[in-house]
Amino acid sequence: MIRAVKGTRDILPPASAAWNHVESVAREVFRTFNYQEIRTPLFEETALFARGVGEDTDIVGKEMYTWDDRDGSSLTLRPEATASVMRAYIEHRLDQIPGVKKFYYLGPMFRRERPQKGRFRQFYQIGAEAIGSESPVIDAEVIEMVVELFRRCGLEGIQLILNSVGCKDCRPAYLALLREKIAEVAPHLCADCQRRATTNPLRVLDCKVHEDQPYIDALPSILDHLDEACRQHFATVRALLDARGISYEVRPRLVRGLDYYMRTTFEITHGALGAQNSVLGGGRYDGLAEAIGSKVPAPGIGFSIGEDRLVMILEESHPDRFKPAVDVFLAPLGEAAEQHAGALAAELRSQGFSVERSADRKLKRALEVANKTGARYTLILGDDEVSTGTYSLKDMASGEQVKLKRSELAARIKSN
Ligand SMILES: [Zn+2]
Ligand SMILES: [Zn+2]
Repeated sequence: MIRAVKGTRDILPPASAAWNHVESVAREVFRTFNYQEIRTPLFEETALFARGVGEDTDIVGKEMYTWDDRDGSSLTLRPEATASVMRAYIEHRLDQIPGVKKFYYLGPMFRRERPQKGRFRQFYQIGAEAIGSESPVIDAEVIEMVVELFRRCGLEGIQLILNSVGCKDCRPAYLALLREKIAEVAPHLCADCQRRATTNPLRVLDCKVHEDQPYIDALPSILDHLDEACRQHFATVRALLDARGISYEVRPRLVRGLDYYMRTTFEITHGALGAQNSVLGGGRYDGLAEAIGSKVPAPGIGFSIGEDRLVMILEESHPDRFKPAVDVFLAPLGEAAEQHAGALAAELRSQGFSVERSADRKLKRALEVANKTGARYTLILGDDEVSTGTYSLKDMASGEQVKLKRSELAARIKSN
């Protein structure tokens, strides 16, 4: 038997309803913040991700699905979408659009990760990018938008974590200091930290090894080493969030390992996800456009939501919410009734009701199926009833059955 490839999965009903819910909420929230959808290809030239995501990241180093195409070019399934959005932005001169350029995307990404809870090799992200402004106003608005998105999805208990990682002017001095201080405690740290101490000292701050924590907590904080411009920028972002009543925790250890990230970084976590509890990561980037070949700078800020994880938390916290809802199950019991049922179904559907019809003329079988599919009502149509123009409507929860005229049906079904 052929099965789905390891690390991939089928999203089946009723779970697919939770996915649709999340995606339609996201589209609606994006619309109200004036973001427009961008759809980029699922694969790109490998060089785009090597430059845009970073050669020395785990993603590019170990996790990409890369192959040589028949003409010899190296192609890669997208491991994330920001680099693709930026490539499209440059290629189509989207910088010509007036004002801040706001794009959102949703769809599958591909990484050859070790499968673990809530992680898949084909996984889904919902994300957005606001390009063309360095203003902290945009940072605060992006963060407000994600908080609103989670609220409208019906997700409680999220935590917003915020930091600034400085800029190309103030970060080098901090990194030099960080390297020095890590060297002093290096013998106490794990093997990963010892390696990163020289290659990418910021990533030491990400370490989750329990024994390392007291040493890492004692390392210097980037927030004490921001220059005036970065300090001002961060203060404004915080003041704007405070003014909107959005609560957050400042965590100086929240950093991103890539050079082009600057200033605001943020993350949303949820307790239900355990140690790997991040459901959203985002931040401001500068130099990304240049890294992939743009002549014009394109400062921006973006984020991506791990949709698999978001849906998992929603399903766990609202197990009954995404059950399918059939309003009316039609049970025609004869040939004339069967023909009539078609027109009746069309009428009810045009009024917005979800209608299912029995494929069996036996009432007992029809009621069984209606029960199992969770239909609210069964409408029983005998040939006699069709000729007299009245129907028997059975409330599946209470068992109560009433006779109704066609004109009375909709109001009755709508009433609860
Ligand atoms: Zn700075
Ligand atoms: Zn460590």
